[in-house]
Amino acid sequence: MNDTSPPSAAGGRIMLVGLGPGSHEHLTARARAAIAEADTVIGYVTYIRLVAELLEGKEVIKKSMTEELDRAIEAFERARQGRKVALISSGDAGVYGMAGPTFEVLFQAGWTPESGIEVEIIPGASALNTCAALVGAPLTHDFCAISLSDLLTPWPTIARRLDAVAAADFVVALYNPKSGRRTGQIVEARRLFLRHRRPDTPVAIVKSAYRPKQRIEFTTLEKMTECDIGMLSTVLIGNSNTFVRHGLMVTPRGYRNKYDVESGATHSGEQAGRSLSTGLTGWLASLRASGLGAAALAAEHRLPEDYIAALLAEAPTPADTGEAAA
Ligand code: SAH
Repeated sequence: MNDTSPPSAAGGRIMLVGLGPGSHEHLTARARAAIAEADTVIGYVTYIRLVAELLEGKEVIKKSMTEELDRAIEAFERARQGRKVALISSGDAGVYGMAGPTFEVLFQAGWTPESGIEVEIIPGASALNTCAALVGAPLTHDFCAISLSDLLTPWPTIARRLDAVAAADFVVALYNPKSGRRTGQIVEARRLFLRHRRPDTPVAIVKSAYRPKQRIEFTTLEKMTECDIGMLSTVLIGNSNTFVRHGLMVTPRGYRNKYDVESGATHSGEQAGRSLSTGLTGWLASLRASGLGAAALAAEHRLPEDYIAALLAEAPTPADTGEAAA
């Protein structure tokens, strides 16, 4: 990218297309249209194969896994010549995909949104959506994604994130859990999680979701490393409330905190459509009413002492005390 002339080709376009899991039923209408519009389609060999029958008459550039920057540079060069280029990613192009590297390359080359080359990102269902759909409803409460790939991220960064989310009781989707060469990362992830979560925490491993070789396995945190995990697997680790019933992994949303699930009645002290009695307002009032100091409350609620101290120092508002505003 030594050419410093400003990009200007009229009509040039880069479309970052998320293909979803790989089956045609789950390819969005916009993704299909974007591929149809494209003169050039660039992607990893496996993804090119997934959409092979849509590519007739187009220039197709296959790249290997490690050539991501090359793919972006090539897309940019074609777009400068006025071509419409589809850069295809599995899942969503913005989730561990081509969207980030493409913008990095474009900015490096002096591209701006006004410079005549349009960039469109076409969202697709990411592996966490599609893998979750195959195993039940594991992501119905707070969750996060962590990639175990240390090709571009130092291991201490990954390990700190694993430790933090395990402690904070997130459901976690592990991307890039294991490959032929990277076999130790999943073992370390298990070790970090077991410091915070029960050994029988439900885990689902989904391989090749919505592709011919799809495989789903239910296991536990303790046993997950004994399972068949590879480059095409996503590992879903439940939180402390996640359960498996009739072959379905479910993370409760919290309705039981407020309602009797059988009758639908609210528990005493709770109101439909209002925050829980232990929601922000109710909880603040209880802190102040407790008469305890910041240190004791911080330990009880596992929150930073300076945060609790700041809350206690603020004067209660009329809403906190239940008084009507004057
Ligand atoms: N952009 C993609 C992620 C690319 S990283 C997305 O949004 O899904 C590659 C990782 O994604 C794989 O190691 C695997 O963890 C996950 N993955 C992608 N496609 C998958 C599929 N069909 N089934 C299971 N996991 C998949």
